[in-house]
Amino acid sequence: MGENTKSICPFCGVGCGVLRGDSGKGHGWKASVNRRGELCPKGVAAYDVLNHADRLTEPQIRIGGDLVPVSWDEAFLRIEQEFGRIVDEHGSDALGFFASSGCTNEENYVFQKLARMLGTNNVDNCARLCHSSTVAAMQSRFGAGAMTNTLDDLGDADCFLVWGANPAEQHPIIFSSYLAPAVNDGTTLIHIDPRENRTTEIADFHLPVKPGYDIPLLNGMCAVIFEEGLEDDEFLRERVSNVSAFRKFISGVDVDECAETAGIAPDDLREVARIYANATRAAAFTGMGMSQHRYGTANVHTLLNIALVTGNVGRCGTGVNPLRGKNNVQGASDVGALPDVLPGYRPVTDSDARKAIADVWGVEPPAIPGLTEVEMTHEFGDGIRGAFVFGENIGATEPNVNRTVRELDSLDCLVVQEIFPTETTAHADVILPASSWAEKAGTVTNTDRQVQQMRPSSDPPGNARTDLEILCEIGRRLLDIDSDVRLSDTSFEYDGPEAVFSELTQVTPQYSGMSYSGIGDGSQRWPLPKGETEGVGVLHRNRFSNGERRAPLVSVEHIDPTAEHSNNDSDSLVLTTGRVIEHFNSGVVTRRSDVLTHLRSTDALQIHPDDATERGVEDGDKVVVTSNNGRIEAKSAVTPSIRPGVVFLTFHFAERLVNRLTGDELDPTSKIPTYKHVRVRVENTE
Ligand code: SF4
Repeated sequence: MGENTKSICPFCGVGCGVLRGDSGKGHGWKASVNRRGELCPKGVAAYDVLNHADRLTEPQIRIGGDLVPVSWDEAFLRIEQEFGRIVDEHGSDALGFFASSGCTNEENYVFQKLARMLGTNNVDNCARLCHSSTVAAMQSRFGAGAMTNTLDDLGDADCFLVWGANPAEQHPIIFSSYLAPAVNDGTTLIHIDPRENRTTEIADFHLPVKPGYDIPLLNGMCAVIFEEGLEDDEFLRERVSNVSAFRKFISGVDVDECAETAGIAPDDLREVARIYANATRAAAFTGMGMSQHRYGTANVHTLLNIALVTGNVGRCGTGVNPLRGKNNVQGASDVGALPDVLPGYRPVTDSDARKAIADVWGVEPPAIPGLTEVEMTHEFGDGIRGAFVFGENIGATEPNVNRTVRELDSLDCLVVQEIFPTETTAHADVILPASSWAEKAGTVTNTDRQVQQMRPSSDPPGNARTDLEILCEIGRRLLDIDSDVRLSDTSFEYDGPEAVFSELTQVTPQYSGMSYSGIGDGSQRWPLPKGETEGVGVLHRNRFSNGERRAPLVSVEHIDPTAEHSNNDSDSLVLTTGRVIEHFNSGVVTRRSDVLTHLRSTDALQIHPDDATERGVEDGDKVVVTSNNGRIEAKSAVTPSIRPGVVFLTFHFAERLVNRLTGDELDPTSKIPTYKHVRVRVENTE
């Protein structure tokens, strides 16, 4: 406890080691990922707002329309009474649980255990909103929805294919300490993104694909590879199935037509296909530019195809590597904060998996998959009567957020566990003041599957409590409301997070060989089977994680992303969204840091000069952006760095809440929302 206590940065999925230096600023320590102790600006500012005047320090409940401070006992009692009544009147599935990918493995494990012991699988985390499509595609074909490789071995690649990601701003230490040094040493970087951004600055090739047209671009690249005999025949023979059918499908693909559809010059498509296929080791990185689409799962399937066709799986410097967003989005999913799978990604429909959980919990989880995050919000006030939102700001981050906010108010009881007032706490019936990342212990799992320890450097302020303490108390109290549950006296009695971790390793096969002592100041990587001392680095070397020797190729037809839009008029533009380096997600923490807020202005609408001229918009003008779902105002930033027909906004700013514009369409497989392809009109108001 105190200064110089080693912890892990709370923001992105890179997982840099950080401690509070004498100046009160974040200092990097030489941890498993940032081995030289390097940090990005967010890591340096990580301790800035811990004592901010806005911190929630007292429990509150809504009385007569107003939130009023109460004792912890009164707050817990309100939850017991309201959730108890809802379960009695409507059943356990009338409750919805929103887990936190910004909180620890232990907290998320206890949270999903609470939901499932209450009798519902309605528990999800915001992995649903960022990479659920990636996980769906990779899990179904490779048996693991995670980076196939490690940050260390990826330096061996001759070619990086960075698709729909901007690691220079979104994963800055991966970019500066792993990707850029390799590029300086000769690795070719191909950047696929509708926008030129900081990642493009070191790219050898930039293909500004139209948002939503990844499939024709990847199918076209596969066609070039087969036409020119660049496929890896031995790998196809030994490790891949469905090859003949896929060859037949690709033989019907017209490369020039694909290029035109994707908005790319055919020669550029051909050139990058050759470079990727001719590389001895080619590594693909994928981000939300690929995953957050109406057909995001299909997008990722086409990326897996090109990796399999060229033999770029199961070796150092290759693979398909999703760059995960929040600091524990990987771990929250690993430990079961998902509606269709138990800890370790075992389906809730698998009776053996449920039995294994029951052996540890004393209660078998329900067998019917629950609702996903967005589906739960759509059921608010109807199928879902009570919601528990743990460390998430769904009043800002859900698609079509005007609708979400209306739905929040239709709940019988909304419980929010938070550290700051947010767009979600404004609608709460009960607010539970919780601990920031620097006020608690626990583990987090980073983007390349490394589990590391966070440690507290201070206590929660005022009457705030640690998250784990709050969740365990609610567990103890709520399980009494369901007489069907034979709760063991010890179900939520843990002697700290290490005891929770010990339990979760019993039910999460990928973590079964891990321990706090084994992690220590370093990390342990999953999968780490019991009895082994080291986790597996490169996955799928001889067999895929599902035990299969071969993974199938999947033929994916392009589906026009405009087909379902009702406002496809010739005047509309396609809005795409993203992050900038200074801020994180809905900005609840980073926008309270004076340092980060003043680094630069980042909330303008990027628009191409041609589109700006057509609309009489000049750089800096105030514009109104409207979609079928809502309207926002923004300042314009006229720039040729974005392709014509596309505009860009970040999603960090409550004042420009971009999710007022996004829509409800969900990918049919993963249920990820369509954040990256929104039809909008842009009008000058000056
Ligand atoms: Fe934190 Fe990510 Fe920056 Fe590292 S790269 S300091 S983990 S925000």
